[in-house]
Amino acid sequence: MGRAERDLVALGIAIAAILLFVGTGGLVLPQVVRSWMGAGTAPDPILVNALLLNIALVIFGWRRYAELTSEIAERRKAEELARQLAEIDPLTGALNRRSIGPATDALLAEAHASDRSVAFVMVDLDNFKLVNDLNGHLAGDALLRLTAERIRALLPKDALLSRLGGDEFACVVPFDPRTPDRIDQFASLLIDRVAQPADFNGLSIEVTVSVGMSADLEVPGTPSEPADAQMLIHRADIAMYHAKKQGKNRYFWFEEPMEAELRFRSELETGIRRGIPRGEFIPYYEQQIDLATGELTGFEMLARWQSPTLGMVSPEVFIPVAEDIGLIADLSESLIEVALEDAKEWDPRLSLSINISPIQLRDPWFSQKIIKMLVRHNFPPPRLDIEITESCLHENIGVVRSIITSLKNQGVTISLDDFGTGFSSLAQLRSLPFDRLKIDRSFVSELKDGEDADKLVQAIIQLGDGLELPMTAEGIEDPTILTKLQRMGELKGQGYFYGRPENAEAVRTRLAAAGLLAKNPEPTPTGEPADDQRKAG
Ligand code: C2E
Ligand code: CA
Ligand code: CA
Repeated sequence: MGRAERDLVALGIAIAAILLFVGTGGLVLPQVVRSWMGAGTAPDPILVNALLLNIALVIFGWRRYAELTSEIAERRKAEELARQLAEIDPLTGALNRRSIGPATDALLAEAHASDRSVAFVMVDLDNFKLVNDLNGHLAGDALLRLTAERIRALLPKDALLSRLGGDEFACVVPFDPRTPDRIDQFASLLIDRVAQPADFNGLSIEVTVSVGMSADLEVPGTPSEPADAQMLIHRADIAMYHAKKQGKNRYFWFEEPMEAELRFRSELETGIRRGIPRGEFIPYYEQQIDLATGELTGFEMLARWQSPTLGMVSPEVFIPVAEDIGLIADLSESLIEVALEDAKEWDPRLSLSINISPIQLRDPWFSQKIIKMLVRHNFPPPRLDIEITESCLHENIGVVRSIITSLKNQGVTISLDDFGTGFSSLAQLRSLPFDRLKIDRSFVSELKDGEDADKLVQAIIQLGDGLELPMTAEGIEDPTILTKLQRMGELKGQGYFYGRPENAEAVRTRLAAAGLLAKNPEPTPTGEPADDQRKAG
């Protein structure tokens, strides 16, 4: 604005000077001409000076005006470039995160004026980090550029494309509200197109996308407020997150329950973070029984969360979340510390089984951590049994094997949990030194119903016999199941038939009644279990 004013001032000076020139020049010039021809008196020198000054002013004013005009044109160009740099993602040429909001709002206003709707389509590459790590950043960049091109090729002319950052893109697509399935078609085409293998310097790279969509149409169950960019982005983001959780490589429209789910999820996350140091996670214990004698042999520790806001929460809810947010090891260790102290009050013949997440077995220090805890709590290693699931065997078998070996060297026993559900090969099972197999409760509980289940469990038991591994049947719910199992082989068992999992105090009461509390609470030294201690396996 200031520059434009100065611009006008320069122009004003030039024009005023020209007008003055016309005035004074009209008076003085004829006098000058006449005096040169000797036909009149010389003009007033003051007037002549004024005229010369006037000419100088005209030249000055005009040049200044011309200079300023070209200077302004250049500045405008620079400003336009800066604006582009601020709004455009240099890698893909798409709009960047900062500019997509205002651009969407503008598109919304335009669409409403012509009775059209706007869809916000959030596109996130699946496992892009892996592509980057495996093939290098150059390939990663090339893949992002190619993805932008592929999406752009599918977009209608009046749509916008933006790269929100990293591997996240967004499309803003105006559409006819009577045919929202156009957007569905667009999304499934996009998922198809992006998944085509891409070639970079002889490398073939494949990547999939997860897509979340929202539109300025009414969503059932939500209060209808006029849509703005922020709301559309927020909702598409939630739908995209949902697509990821449903297994990636798919699209979802935003729906109200997704938002509630997400809120619940983040409530769980903060609750878990807060709850671990506050001791809200406590061990419950489930009895393990020798089916032939009916004798109690030990307990399996099962985690419970006494949340001050949610009440008693099942491990099936909080364990996967703790795994996702990287807190499973902290959570598990805090529980084990408590369980070791609880178990020291029991008869030393009773074993303690603990469940370990596959994520904990990625930690090469895991066995050292366990052994340290055993030493700190003065707990005999042979009383501890570690349950791992078959899914642990599918990843990083090398680390898992060395963890198992070093725990076993200390006398800890290892059980394979949920046996039968995880597709491990016989070769795998034979190559790892398990002490026991736990037949998954889904097979065992079927025994109530029919012959087919009998045959299946029988086959699993024969498999275990072939591997020469003792077995525990989980999920014994009633006497029918128990009788069948007792006929099938020499097994240990556990399940609701023997009682629900209970807390440390209830266990103490139960053991006191059975005369199974430790007589001498003074613990035996670690590593040298007393002769009368039976191994858990
Ligand atoms: P799991 O290791 O297979 O544990 C047995 C689950 O079956 C327990 O559920 C137990 O309460 C339940 N159960 C026992 N008897 C019966 C029965 O007769 N019928 C039926 N229908 N169910 C029975 P819970 O306590 O909810 O634990 C669920 C899962 O959570 C466990 O399955 C285990 O995989 C995991 N989990 C529990 N505590 C921990 C922990 O501290 N760390 C890790 N990583 N996972 C844990
Ligand atoms: Ca278990
Ligand atoms: Ca199990």
